[in-house]
Amino acid sequence: MTLTADAAPGTAEETQHVDVLVVGAGISGIGAAYHLKEQFPGKSFVILDALDARGGTWWTHRYPGVRSDSDLFTFGYGFKPWRGASIAASEEILAYLDEVIEDNDLGDRIRYRHRVSAASWSSEEKRWTVHVTREDTGESLRFTTDFLWMCQGYYDHGRPHQPQWEGMDRFRGQVVHPQQWPVDLDYAGKRVVVIGSGATAATLVPAMAQEAAHVTMLQRSPTFFFARPRTHELANTLRALDVPDEWTHEILRRAYIAEGDEITWMSKEAPEELRAFIIESMRPLLPEGFDIDKHFNPTYRPWQQRLALLPDGDLFTAIREGQASVVTDTIDTFTETGIRTSSGEELKADIVVTATGFDLSLFGGVAFTVDGEPVDFTQRVTWRGMMISGVPNMAYVFGYFRASWTLRADLVSEFVCRLLAHMEKRGATTVVPTLRPEDAGMELRPWGDPENFNSGYVMRTMHLMFKQGDREPWVHLLEYAEERDSLPALDLDDSSLVYS
Ligand SMILES: Cc1cc2nc3c(=O)[nH]c(=O)nc-3n(C[C@H](O)[C@H](O)[C@H](O)COP(=O)(O)OP(=O)(O)OC[C@H]3O[C@@H](n4cnc5c(N)ncnc54)[C@H](O)[C@@H]3O)c2cc1C
Repeated sequence: MTLTADAAPGTAEETQHVDVLVVGAGISGIGAAYHLKEQFPGKSFVILDALDARGGTWWTHRYPGVRSDSDLFTFGYGFKPWRGASIAASEEILAYLDEVIEDNDLGDRIRYRHRVSAASWSSEEKRWTVHVTREDTGESLRFTTDFLWMCQGYYDHGRPHQPQWEGMDRFRGQVVHPQQWPVDLDYAGKRVVVIGSGATAATLVPAMAQEAAHVTMLQRSPTFFFARPRTHELANTLRALDVPDEWTHEILRRAYIAEGDEITWMSKEAPEELRAFIIESMRPLLPEGFDIDKHFNPTYRPWQQRLALLPDGDLFTAIREGQASVVTDTIDTFTETGIRTSSGEELKADIVVTATGFDLSLFGGVAFTVDGEPVDFTQRVTWRGMMISGVPNMAYVFGYFRASWTLRADLVSEFVCRLLAHMEKRGATTVVPTLRPEDAGMELRPWGDPENFNSGYVMRTMHLMFKQGDREPWVHLLEYAEERDSLPALDLDDSSLVYS
């Protein structure tokens, strides 16, 4: 890193220059840093994160039972064996990230409490100027960088999606959102209603049911739930045989990828068979007479939204044991003592948890300009879900919705490093994804295809996002199977990448 006195009149900011600047110290940013350090020991880089510690999602979320929904053999990195149970608690994921940071000496590259507010590209200087505010001191900082690597995740860590319902203000109990969990919330012996039906609700309900008087999951519509063992039998076998951790990691990774491929294939080719399989698999785990069709049989096709995993079927156990129940209905109003549903049912509650998810945040709220012009992303097109048309020297990580996020984060890291090496080899300082003459007049499509994936957070924010085209490379593919071989083999001299 180099420091120079700021040349702009009227300010006393120092400008710090790095070859690569990574935004975000979650699983994507730490992975990016690992790859950078491995492949370019001579390059200077820094990771900036607005939070006060590493981990992103796994640092922000502190609700009871918070855990992964994916297996850690694929949610963990390809380069770092996972040694625990397949499904991991957030503390275990954070400990794993700590090991990656420590093993690779990445700690001194990370600056916490550094919020990036703006990034401006200058074609004349061939670099980005990045504006940063210190969250602790309010101080303004300025960095310059040759390459900007956005690992900011996909939602606003500071502001959850919090719908308002009639009568909320008269409710005498407590309303909490999982993204802003009060550390001292005491729910022992209390009646809890969790609004929501996604992975977070499915985690919270059995976890809170252990101490609460009763937990009701109040959902507007059902989600597909799938009970799986917390630990894969194969992992137990391999570990009992003292197989090296690296092999176990790779074998389990392949096993989970193959399983995911099969489910994806079935969801496309035989969705109703997959639906029947999921429904039948839960029947023996639920109480006799439980209305599965009403509560756990969604109207959408399996895999049109993320399939929510239940480790060891814990939600079903809580329902079977009478500690938890499910109500599928809409909210008419909050009352002083709970919630009244549209069909008139009164749900008494001391605590209401709004597990209503989040809204997508585009590039962490960073305001981009290129040569003084603000970038209107709604008018831009994605380049393979990794770069944006007309935005020089910038890559971003967006993981898979249905498979583990990190499978894609690893692929993007390999791609960015290959691109940086290619630029060096070509003697290029700039790369810009650029529409080719044959792309003139190309039909622009929404960034997400609701037929393929239609979770609420995607649908709510689609209008803010960049677009896709109707052909490669202007598409964002959603399956690991479509990318695992093709991304590493991409031709970097493709005419859609313009170097100078
Ligand atoms: C509760 C929950 C559970 C999940 N479970 C799974 C799962 O099991 N499997 C799966 O595949 N996916 C899961 N996801 C999706 C999950 O977010 C990702 O898998 C993954 O953790 C994202 O990592 P990331 O590093 O890309 O982003 P994040 O974890 O969101 O981290 C991004 C970081 O960037 C920082 N940042 C953002 N904007 C700025 C800015 N302007 N300036 C400075 N810093 C900034 C943030 O502070 C944050 O630390 C889950 C999501 C949630 C909310």
